[in-house]
Amino acid sequence: MFTSPCLSVNEENHLTIGGVDTLSLAKEYGTPLYVLDEDAVRRNCRLYVDSMNRFYDGHGLILFASKALCNTAMCKLVASENMGVDVVSGGELYTAYKAGVPMEKVYFHGNNKTEAELNMALSLGVGRFVVDNQSELLELDRLAKAAGKKASVLFRITPGIDAHTHDFIMTGKIDCKFGVILENGDAMEIIRLASTLENIEVVGVHCHIGSQIFDLEPFCEAASVMVNFLGDVKDTLGITLSELNLGGGFGICYTEKDDPVPYDQYMEAVSKVVKATAEKRNLPLPKILMEPGRSIVGDAGITLYTVGAIKNIPGVRSYLAVDGGMGDNPRYALYQAEYEFLVANRAGSAKDAVYTVAGKCCESGDLLGEHAPLQTANSGDILAVLSTGAYNYSMSSNYNRIPRPAMVMVSGGKTRIVVKRETYEDIIKNDCE
Ligand SMILES: *Cc1c(COP(=O)(O)O)cnc(C)c1O
Repeated sequence: MFTSPCLSVNEENHLTIGGVDTLSLAKEYGTPLYVLDEDAVRRNCRLYVDSMNRFYDGHGLILFASKALCNTAMCKLVASENMGVDVVSGGELYTAYKAGVPMEKVYFHGNNKTEAELNMALSLGVGRFVVDNQSELLELDRLAKAAGKKASVLFRITPGIDAHTHDFIMTGKIDCKFGVILENGDAMEIIRLASTLENIEVVGVHCHIGSQIFDLEPFCEAASVMVNFLGDVKDTLGITLSELNLGGGFGICYTEKDDPVPYDQYMEAVSKVVKATAEKRNLPLPKILMEPGRSIVGDAGITLYTVGAIKNIPGVRSYLAVDGGMGDNPRYALYQAEYEFLVANRAGSAKDAVYTVAGKCCESGDLLGEHAPLQTANSGDILAVLSTGAYNYSMSSNYNRIPRPAMVMVSGGKTRIVVKRETYEDIIKNDCE
């Protein structure tokens, strides 16, 4: 009935998450409120970790792409599930560090890491730098030398896979701000250059072919292209690289139109391709890394709002306004991302109305969805938006000086607050006069 298995309806016709009544959550913690089912997050983690053990003898590591949802609680949670964390900024790195994530399991991504960020990562001892381009490589070598360290690197490669059409395109997908191009020889050249640098140790290669992908095929194609590239590196430069990072991008269910692949099937499919290609190219089996973000947290989270004004424009549409909006969830405003909506206090009732769900920001584009099927709503109802665990809190802002919502985790029927609601004092705390 719902897009996520952690949701249900109780005998009072209220939506529950992880067995907890969303109406009591709204009452106790206020709205807007991010709610995350910790047990559901752990189930998602284990699907990946167990499949790495089952299909690839555990010769790898699952990294949580923390940009999907980065806070101390999440970093601690994934570390306790034997996962690593990938970070793309000093702020994400600092969060992982303070949360106690073992630094050797941290992978540092990003297409424009600053000198300060690189130095911070060197001094904290992050496990791997995923180097994006040549200027970063040279800068990292220089900084590592000054710090008396050797940096272990993977290179971000653009393998030319179009994940949504399944094409391997020789030129079509190379126009991208990320990574070095495989097809024109740049990727080989950067590895050659790196092998001459004293303070760089080249460990492997990385690719990330897109996001919200529903098929196994593009991941298999990418794995095949990348292992063949490892073969070419060995044949051309005599260097055997030991790590293959295949990125994230595994699709989740936002609305009933979405039909995700069970997450453990990715590892099964990809490991077959890696094993076969490595054998063909006479390579030792590389350590595999995968970086799911959305699929770890997306369907484990919901957002609760209080319904305010309802405005019917006859013959046009009905607006339903909530006490949050693009500040806590900019995804509709950014790229018309679709969500499923429910009136949480009548969750089991038929959806007999259609609304455009608007936020409270001073911006016409501040919408959470248009023409959304919903139960007929009244002011004061609690509106639930489903599958908001990923790229909501992490993309939130203080636009219009609206404080960010609190985040609550539920587990085994118990609740705890993991991020406090911002206050107006938080809003002005960095103002200097
Ligand atoms: C965004 C990103 C991910 C995570 O993508 P999801 O679609 O959330 O799984 C993983 N790796 C890299 C390099 C990314 O940029």
